[in-house]
Amino acid sequence: MDCMFCKIIQNKIPSKKVYEDDGILAFEDVNPQAPVHILIIPKKHIPTSLEIEEEDNELIGRMFQVANRIATDREVAERGFRIVMNCNSEAGQTVFHVHLHLLAGRAMHWPPG
Ligand code: 5GP
Ligand code: ZN
Repeated sequence: MDCMFCKIIQNKIPSKKVYEDDGILAFEDVNPQAPVHILIIPKKHIPTSLEIEEEDNELIGRMFQVANRIATDREVAERGFRIVMNCNSEAGQTVFHVHLHLLAGRAMHWPPG
């Protein structure tokens, strides 16, 4: 499968890993949009949030717990952080393997651009 993030999971593309377990990988975004910009992905290939199924509920929940843990470790939890999942083109999704963006370390704008 020609998926950039599956290749990162398989170590075919290098990444700066932040966290890994049986089902989840987190790594630094290659083009950071904030001082902290980490991507949290399931090892299961799910193209967009539209394909998240009931059997994925625990996995998706754990992705948020990983984001919380990283935010706490990076000492941005109290200041605040943003978790984003883009779906399809108008939202700006460019990699079709679901991922949470964990963004922190600066004041965020609202509404997002
Ligand atoms: P999306 O636009 O799909 O929500 O987010 C995709 C993100 O993946 C972007 O922030 C982009 O910088 C990041 N990205 C794309 N390719 C790579 C890569 O090969 N390595 C890493 N570390 N990040 C990537
Ligand atoms: Zn994939």
